[in-house]
Amino acid sequence: MSNNKRIWIANPLGIFTGNGADAGAGLVIEGTRILELVARGQTPSVDWDERFDASKHVVIPGLINTHHHFYQTLTRALPAALNKELFPWLKTLYPVWAGLEPDMLSAATELALTELLMSGCTTAADHHYLFPSALEEAVDLQVEAAAKIGMRVTLTRGSMSLGEDQGGLPPRTVVQTEETILADSERLIQRYHDAAEGAMVQIALAPCSPFSVTTGLMRDTATLAQKYNVRTHTHLAETLDEEAFCQQQFGLRTVDYLESVGWLNERSWLAHGIHFNADEIERLGAAGVGIAHCPNSNMMLASGICQVQALEAAGCPVGIAVDGSASNDCSNMIQEVRQAMYLQRLRYGSSQVHHQHALRWGTQGSAAVLGRDDIGELAASKQADIALFTLDELRFSGAHDPLAALLLCGAHQADAVMVAGQWRVRDGKPVDIEIPALLEKHRAAAARLAAKVS
Ligand code: ZN
Repeated sequence: MSNNKRIWIANPLGIFTGNGADAGAGLVIEGTRILELVARGQTPSVDWDERFDASKHVVIPGLINTHHHFYQTLTRALPAALNKELFPWLKTLYPVWAGLEPDMLSAATELALTELLMSGCTTAADHHYLFPSALEEAVDLQVEAAAKIGMRVTLTRGSMSLGEDQGGLPPRTVVQTEETILADSERLIQRYHDAAEGAMVQIALAPCSPFSVTTGLMRDTATLAQKYNVRTHTHLAETLDEEAFCQQQFGLRTVDYLESVGWLNERSWLAHGIHFNADEIERLGAAGVGIAHCPNSNMMLASGICQVQALEAAGCPVGIAVDGSASNDCSNMIQEVRQAMYLQRLRYGSSQVHHQHALRWGTQGSAAVLGRDDIGELAASKQADIALFTLDELRFSGAHDPLAALLLCGAHQADAVMVAGQWRVRDGKPVDIEIPALLEKHRAAAARLAAKVS
């Protein structure tokens, strides 16, 4: 579907390009890309077919979510899992998640993506590591769902290979053999990974965490990723329990473990990345390892506070992520960017963390974490992924600086969102998605999943 008409997003109330360029009079879209930025007081240098009046909108690059578990939208606020820290929380949920079925995953993926999209997100990474029997084609189902919603995705082929009986955390029922995992990883890369500029689907490989994966699988995954030039992803240094596990199981701290399995390189990005010492931060930065900062999840599970400034200063790309919806429990990217700003202020002080920093983490920073330079900022030739927010709710009334207001007053829903030059949200509503039907399907799936263990 080619669409080469030119749209001028004209005269925004506020705009954040991510690169300091003057786009006071907006920007022009042609096809899937941004054609030019228009400086304050100017009109486009080219003719346009359509003018979108953005005079009531704050315009930002589409937000990029770097870590999620879409399936967890089915187990939000589950009574048995409330008020726990990571390990007991996981042990409570594994048996529930083991019951996941194909239609449930499809509903969860569609719902999570729609929720993200409506919050101004245009690209999302998902870490899917549950492949019970009959759900071997989990990632295939997610590719289908993402195309239906019209979002850009990095789908990771997650995995768990270290069961409880081998000293791991998850029960035997949710782990797979290394051979099965590697064969499916290769199949998915060959079938779906698009390395080209403007890709709508990329595949990455994502063994779940040190306490659920064998070291052999970590090593072989790194080798396979190198062969196909795809990215590698895992959870690391999320909690002190995990650090103790690594010391006990491998006699190593987490970063030493990462290095020992061939992952300390710029191909890798880590979810959380909280418990690092100064030397480890230097090594991660020198290697260019990316970090997905998940503020809500880290507060909810009381895991700790990521050292975003130190990691960035060392050379790590840092992005933002909502994490799975059983530890957040929502998938709202603009709210997550706000939480990142506040949590990092708590760590570094109010004068050190500005709203522009948080917006940069959620856009350019996240793009770098996913290894992409075609998204994450508003500039000529970048992909036309844009989120537009109006400030007409009670929460914004009386606000002076529109860009600061977006985060400080707590924006939670975009008025319009464009992905690859296509409008996917208009007037606050997703295009071609029936929300009541999606809700009904998703609620029924969540109820069915919970009923399987009760
Ligand atoms: Zn996670």
